[in-house]
Amino acid sequence: MTDVYDLHCHSTASDGALSPEDLVIRAHEKGVTTVALTDHDTVSGLIAAKNQANALGINFINGIELSANWQKHCLHIVGLGIDPTYQPLVAITEYLQNLRYERAERMAAKLEKKKIVGVLEAVKLAAGDGMITRTHFADFLVSQNHVDTQQEAFDRYLAQGKSAYVATIWPELLDVINWITGSGGVAVIAHPLRYKLSANWMNRLLVDFTNSGGQGLEIITSRINQDEIRLISNYAKKYELVGSVGSDFHNDSNPYVELGRIAQLPAGITPVWSLLSVS
Ligand code: AMP
Ligand code: MN
Ligand code: MN
Ligand code: MN
Repeated sequence: MTDVYDLHCHSTASDGALSPEDLVIRAHEKGVTTVALTDHDTVSGLIAAKNQANALGINFINGIELSANWQKHCLHIVGLGIDPTYQPLVAITEYLQNLRYERAERMAAKLEKKKIVGVLEAVKLAAGDGMITRTHFADFLVSQNHVDTQQEAFDRYLAQGKSAYVATIWPELLDVINWITGSGGVAVIAHPLRYKLSANWMNRLLVDFTNSGGQGLEIITSRINQDEIRLISNYAKKYELVGSVGSDFHNDSNPYVELGRIAQLPAGITPVWSLLSVS
């Protein structure tokens, strides 16, 4: 059987539509043989997902996608092979849950000024015990017909600089890498082209990242083209970083983003799983 890896996806523990169990079931249905659950700033879905993976006989990797501040950019750092019981990591997820709650209160207040009411209650309900994310706000704005799509919700209200945007002081990149590596994990820069960094800034980032113990770049995501894959691969080679692959699946609203629906790593790239014990 061919190995199919998907090392970046979300469940209801953050802004995914499926429970951790259902996410793993879907991954299995889509032919994924090794899956990592990487919810935003939380490890709360990992035990349920791992149990489901064991029941189905597919490999599971403990993961997280941590929000990080670097030079005023919000970066997403995927941690793979982390120990979810590592105390500093547990502590930071608790801190981030509060930070996200406070941000949600401030975002809701901004929307109330625009006569959009009931937001905080709705996003709290939708997030349940999980992390409150801007995706929950987008879904609410769609459900109340303030916008037609999630994308429009970001474009009109939620993206940086828009009326409901609240600047958040995320943990520093160096600390984020240390929590991941300290727990035995590998730190990977998620979707590296999404930060719109110039080549100059990308090189600065990768110098800082590697000097801080970062080890990987997510080379393959859904909706990436060959030129982009080549560009990221060249950075990976230049900085001797391993390559990761992940769909960043959240829900089934986009047919181009599906668990396991991702290209192969290019030749000459060391796969991140060479650094991980997969079970
Ligand atoms: P947060 O971490 O709460 O700021 O939320 C970020 C999440 O919002 C990302 O992980 C995406 O899932 C989602 N997101 C960000 N930008 C967009 C966008 N333009 N369209 C749709 N979803 C987005
Ligand atoms: Mn997300
Ligand atoms: Mn991300
Ligand atoms: Mn993600």
